[in-house]
Amino acid sequence: MSAITIPLVGEIADEQMPQWLECLSDMLPSVSFLPLCELSQEQKISVTVAVVANPSVEEIAQLPNLIWVQSLWAGVESTLKNFPQRSFKIVRMIDPGMASRMAESVLTWSLYLHRDIPLYARAQSEGRWHPLPMILAEERHITVLGLGELGRASAMALLEQGFQVSGWSRTEKTIPGVHCFSGRDGLKAVLSNSDILVCLLPLTTATEQLLNADFFALCRPGVQLINFGRGRLVDDQALLNALDKKLVQHAVLDVFTQEPLPADHPFWTHPDISVLPHISAQTNPKTASKIVAENLTEYLRSGKVPAHVDQQLGY
Ligand code: NAP
Repeated sequence: MSAITIPLVGEIADEQMPQWLECLSDMLPSVSFLPLCELSQEQKISVTVAVVANPSVEEIAQLPNLIWVQSLWAGVESTLKNFPQRSFKIVRMIDPGMASRMAESVLTWSLYLHRDIPLYARAQSEGRWHPLPMILAEERHITVLGLGELGRASAMALLEQGFQVSGWSRTEKTIPGVHCFSGRDGLKAVLSNSDILVCLLPLTTATEQLLNADFFALCRPGVQLINFGRGRLVDDQALLNALDKKLVQHAVLDVFTQEPLPADHPFWTHPDISVLPHISAQTNPKTASKIVAENLTEYLRSGKVPAHVDQQLGY
């Protein structure tokens, strides 16, 4: 019997393709993983599952019998947007390894803000010796917006570090040690009481530009922001205004409306913004291939499509 063929489709750089093929084949030797362009017409017609990274409409059109796609990325808003009438399901990347890496990033940059590194860097550049009062971790209130796979792991890492931790999500949650809020009233309550906000929301019609002028007006003056979710969660101009008015003290941004961040974008040179090139929790071929293999194995065994993105909610 010939091995089942599963194509890799979308934005996988040529230099990364061999590593993906090797990791996937190591995890699931019974499947033949190939770049889409290497499939015959007959193979393309018989494909029911594909591994994708922001695939294009033209690529997916070559696979008329798709039942589901496994995204290599955790955020799938582009795929949802590009295929509004799709007949296939979208399974996003849920990788505990990625959640650990995100928690590590959130802890790193929370400590950076908590220990006033941006202020000390500024003081050094101005030749000023200026010790600031030390605030204890247990006096520092950090809120994680979005309590999903990545938000929950991040909240736990912050809790272990001794911070006061709150979280905000669409539906109500109970997480030991974390003050959980939901809905509009919950958002107001949590914003008025947070020193550092960590944004780990998905980009949906309900969350796009959630961090706008009204949002910053609800925050405790001098709040610090970490956005590791998506760039379009933030109204860029509203953030710049809030920084200029000192409503926001500093922002660490890993994701942007346009990526790479255009060379002339004011975020690059703003003294109160730290720019990162979308690296807070990159997909790792080794850990992600394990998840892909588990999902495929279960599908090939049972015929059941793994838990997939909700079209209405958009995540
Ligand atoms: P997830 O498991 O789907 O969790 C999403 C969380 O957001 C859930 O807690 C959900 O609430 C909450 N939420 C969604 N819509 C909301 C709304 N309208 N109001 C309040 N809360 C809302 O997603 P995840 O795996 O944690 O990933 C989150 C995002 O991180 C991804 O979508 C992606 O954009 C981003 N990301 C960034 C990087 C990077 O390197 N920067 C890497 C990976 C992912 P419920 O729990 O009530 O459903």
